[in-house]
Parts: sequence; structure tokens; C-alpha cells
Amino acid sequence: MSVLAANPVPGQPAPTGDAGIAVRLRGVTKTYGKGPTAVQAVRGVDLDLPANQLALLVGPSGCGKTTLISIITGVLDATEGTAEVFGNEWTRMSPGRRAKVRATLVGFVFQQFNLLPTLPAVENVAVPLLIQRTGRREALKRARQALDGVGLGNRAGAMPSQLSGGQQQRVAIARALVARPRVLVCDEPTASLDGNTGRQVMDLIKAASRGSESEPRLVIVVTHDARVFHYADMIYRMEDGRITSMAPPDEIDHAKAQHEDTRRRPT
Ligand code: ADP
Ligand code: MG
Repeated sequence: MSVLAANPVPGQPAPTGDAGIAVRLRGVTKTYGKGPTAVQAVRGVDLDLPANQLALLVGPSGCGKTTLISIITGVLDATEGTAEVFGNEWTRMSPGRRAKVRATLVGFVFQQFNLLPTLPAVENVAVPLLIQRTGRREALKRARQALDGVGLGNRAGAMPSQLSGGQQQRVAIARALVARPRVLVCDEPTASLDGNTGRQVMDLIKAASRGSESEPRLVIVVTHDARVFHYADMIYRMEDGRITSMAPPDEIDHAKAQHEDTRRRPT
């Protein structure tokens, strides 16, 4: 199996050395269960994701995308192999240390916005800071700034039910970014949104992928949505537990890719 190394991206210098690598996977496999009913969800993945990019992970339902990003983010243990994020190797950490590192290193956005319905937007956004024991005043101040950053500074007091789907997803993005994580992982972030709203959300997600040399970042988006392919720096295709190709969006036949994924999705 070949290592999918940090490919140069058109218009950008190729990352050099370790500093340019955000995620490094080596020989990662994941098997759920044991014996005859065991499911091999990830089958020997070697992958380097360069920093300061938006990486798209695409592929048919059941091919292992959620399992792979769960391993990358230390939510799930690989059965074999190693997973490293900006030099942090999950398998070497105790569970407590791992939870702490994850809280500061990774932000998550999901298709279902998962806002707490009884809290106003600003308090939803403050939750990750409060969990990290930031003082309440400071947490709310930073939450307001994060809401400003997604264009919702004027809706800080709104309850989730008073916000549109697109606004709720922007609140979820503010919550994911409030603790300034180095890695943002989004699982189908636009699947519940119309085209226009999806674009607003992807613009914010794209902006979050641009860090600096001293503070590099990475965004990984899992999606079936061909409308967002052009936001990617690199599109990684997964099939049957393996990464089968990587290509920048202008080399991908979007219509064909979406058709294949739709066709292969179980009904
Ligand atoms: P995707 O996100 O691409 O749809 P998943 O990573 O969710 O794929 O699933 C990959 C495979 O692993 C599928 O066959 C799925 O049924 C199986 N799987 C996922 N989670 C579990 C689990 N907790 N227990 C057993 N099998 C699982
Ligand atoms: Mg999934």
C-alpha cells in the first residue's frame, strides 16, 4: 500500500517536512466486533493531510468515513496502526489526557446542529469554554465574538428554535471554533441546508482552514454534496475502508461522483 503523501496543491507551495503535516495515519485498520460477524470498516489506511487546507472526504455510505474521522480525532481507537494530529498520537495518551487534548485540538460540526434547545445561542457557543473551566464572563465574551465571526452577533440572545437551519448551523460553527481548535471536522455540514445557506456555511468552514505557519490548521469535511466539492483543496475518495484516490476538485467529474454515491447508497 502506498502512502498518499502531501501532494502539492496548484498555486500553493508544497508543504515541507513535518510542520506541513496536520494528520498522519499509518496502517490504520478498524474492525467492529469479532468472529464471523466482524465488520472491517477501515482497511490499512496510510494518509498524510497537509496543514492549512480544506480536505474533503467523499464516498458511498458505509465505506468508513465516519469511522476514519473518529480515529483521526481520537474519538475511536484504531484496531491497528497509529493516528497523529499535529504531532499528538492518540494511542500514547491516557483516556483523561486524550479527552483534554481533543477538547483543545478539535472542533466538530454535524449535519444535525445539536444545539441545546433550552440555551440561547451565545450560551450554546460558550459551552466548550465552560467545559474547559473558562470563567463565565470571559466565556460569554468570547462566545459573542465567535457569533460575530459567523455574522450572528445580533442574534446572541435567540433560542435555537427562533433561528433558521442555516443560522443554527452557523451557531454550531461558532461553537466548534470558539476554543480556537487547530482541526475542524464537519460531517455532512450542508446536508440539511438549501444551496444558498450551504454556501454561507461553506464559506465560514473554508475560512477556518486557513491558519499560519506558527498556528497551522486543518478542516476535514465529510460530504455527499457535490455542490461543495469546489471548496476543497483536495478531495479524498474512500471506498470499502480504503482511500482509493485523491485529486483537487478541478480534476473530478462532479456529476459522475455524485451519481455513483447516490446509486450506491443503501435505501
Ligand atoms: P460511513 O460514514 O462512510 O457511512 P461508517 O464509518 O459509519 O461509514 O461505517 C463503516 C462500516 O462500519 C459500515 O459497514 C457500518 O455498518 C459499520 N459500523 C459503523 N459503526 C459501527 C459500530 N459501532 N458497530 C458495528 N459496525 C459499525
Ligand atoms: Mg458517516
